[in-house]
Amino acid sequence: MLKRVIHWFELEPVGTLLSYDHDAMSRFVEAGALTEPKRTRYANCVACKASLPVQVQSWGEHLVRCASCGGDVVLGIEFQSVSAKLSWLPNSLAAQIDSTLKPVVTLIDNRLWRISEATSATTAVYLLRSTINLDLAPIMETLNVDFDDGRRLILTTSPFRNMPEPTAESIFLPLDEVAHMEPEGIRLDARSLLPQLIDQVPLWFELPPPYNRLTLAGETLRLRRRQPDFMRLLRLAHAAGQKKASWRALLRRAGYRDVYTSLAQVFPDEVFRFIETSKDDVWIRKAPLPKSRAGPDRQRKNNR
Ligand SMILES: [Zn+2]
Repeated sequence: MLKRVIHWFELEPVGTLLSYDHDAMSRFVEAGALTEPKRTRYANCVACKASLPVQVQSWGEHLVRCASCGGDVVLGIEFQSVSAKLSWLPNSLAAQIDSTLKPVVTLIDNRLWRISEATSATTAVYLLRSTINLDLAPIMETLNVDFDDGRRLILTTSPFRNMPEPTAESIFLPLDEVAHMEPEGIRLDARSLLPQLIDQVPLWFELPPPYNRLTLAGETLRLRRRQPDFMRLLRLAHAAGQKKASWRALLRRAGYRDVYTSLAQVFPDEVFRFIETSKDDVWIRKAPLPKSRAGPDRQRKNNR
């Protein structure tokens, strides 16, 4: 049942009319996923030969023109049609995740909705109406503008071709992995959804917004310039259960543009008391090093 609802929801163009089948569709009309059935006729264009269904009452038929070219039409057989109500799906999901958020926040019309509050303390949840060949660039841009302070879970109506791999910050998850359809409507499955919403790992350090103070075992490191961005991304990796992260990837995402061969080229000694780095990885120490010592990379450099 969920497959069929998702298919209606993804139909292009938005508002596509579906021939109404009472046995198959009446329950979805009642649930609010489909519009009320309306009298419909095919408008067959005399000029361009297009044949498009149009919802029309008998008293309005003389006004119908071809939707493609504006030409005169001959009306075909009469039937009932419905179309998908796009607001139904995000609202139904939002009501189950965060009933305080009313209405949901539309970020891109008919494409992207935020269906939970966005705070750094929780995972922000979005619904993406996907297509096989989705252009991801405007989606990511919009997501980053909306919320860049913590984890995001993006429920996609279907898998799509260039679906991104999960990272510490963003997870794309097909809707049918966490939801199913019941006669009265769509139901999120808490058992499969909850693990995606919780920071899996308790953190052994503190790095609250705006991420400019890293506190570890009672000592605080002040972060400057782009360091807060770097540490925020490292925090997300740790919160997602990763013991280490690629420091090159973090530098790039934090906006460092140069090419570095060692993290010691970027951060001063003081920072290495709080983080440790190996060839490719970086992680936050369990406790700061004593003030007289620095990290292994730095030591090697100083010994040269
Ligand atoms: Zn026409």
